[in-house]
Amino acid sequence: MTQNKPLIVITGASSGIGKATAQLFSENWFPTLLLARRIEKLEALDLKNSISKKVDVTDSFALNNAISEAEEKYWKTECIINNAWLMLLWDISEQNPDEWRKMFDVNIIWVLNGMQAVLPQMKKRQSWTIINVSSVAGRKTFPNHAAYCGTKFWVHAITENAREDAANNNIRMVTIAPGAVETELLSHTTSNEIIDGYNAWKDDMWGVLSPENIANAIYYAYNQPQWVNIREIVIAATKQQP
Ligand code: NDP
Repeated sequence: MTQNKPLIVITGASSGIGKATAQLFSENWFPTLLLARRIEKLEALDLKNSISKKVDVTDSFALNNAISEAEEKYWKTECIINNAWLMLLWDISEQNPDEWRKMFDVNIIWVLNGMQAVLPQMKKRQSWTIINVSSVAGRKTFPNHAAYCGTKFWVHAITENAREDAANNNIRMVTIAPGAVETELLSHTTSNEIIDGYNAWKDDMWGVLSPENIANAIYYAYNQPQWVNIREIVIAATKQQP
């Protein structure tokens, strides 16, 4: 069965949405290339027909090597899911600029690296799919999110602009914009005040989505025929207001 299925590359597959997405594609017999820094977490998934690589997504050389190696085994990447991220929240009048730079590297430069790694061969083939995971925070603003929201607005902009540029090449580009999801996200942020506020917000809406809810949306978008491009999916808990 697997020989007929294309290679799916997933960044940030060691936890949360990336992990649930990797499991879902694997259950459906797709070979996968899983990328993250915590290799032990990737390997613990123990997926069939899967390669795990310890790659920091800001390192385009390591990324390209990992993709080449997986393609030697499983043929070309027919879908990349750019999902890795970093969320460092604070008021920018006080936030350490190092936090902006880190977010810009992981949330922005990396997405560009991931797209460029596969676009030339997609153009040659006149087909295939790029899925970028953005956020509701890529469509609207939230308190103390200025630098972070900037990175996610950017993901929306680049995905839509690149989609227009590549449309004549029959390449699909999808933006996934989740609301709050139960993952490791709060472990990124160093401020207890922000963590407490975020937890209270989640409680107010009786809990948030699961990573599997987002994986299902990604799989749905991917599974449409190649001539159907779902450009954006915005998905949040019913009781999430903003
Ligand atoms: P998690 O915090 O659970 O996982 C983040 C993933 O990114 C991990 O696998 C981590 O792997 C990887 N990662 C982070 N930095 C790097 C790096 N430099 N190099 C390689 N991998 C890296 O995240 P979520 O599942 O919550 O988020 C996934 C996506 O969903 C993100 O794009 C996010 O913006 C989006 N999203 C999430 C929301 C939420 O409420 N959870 C809300 C809106 C959007 P490792 O540490 O092993 O390297």
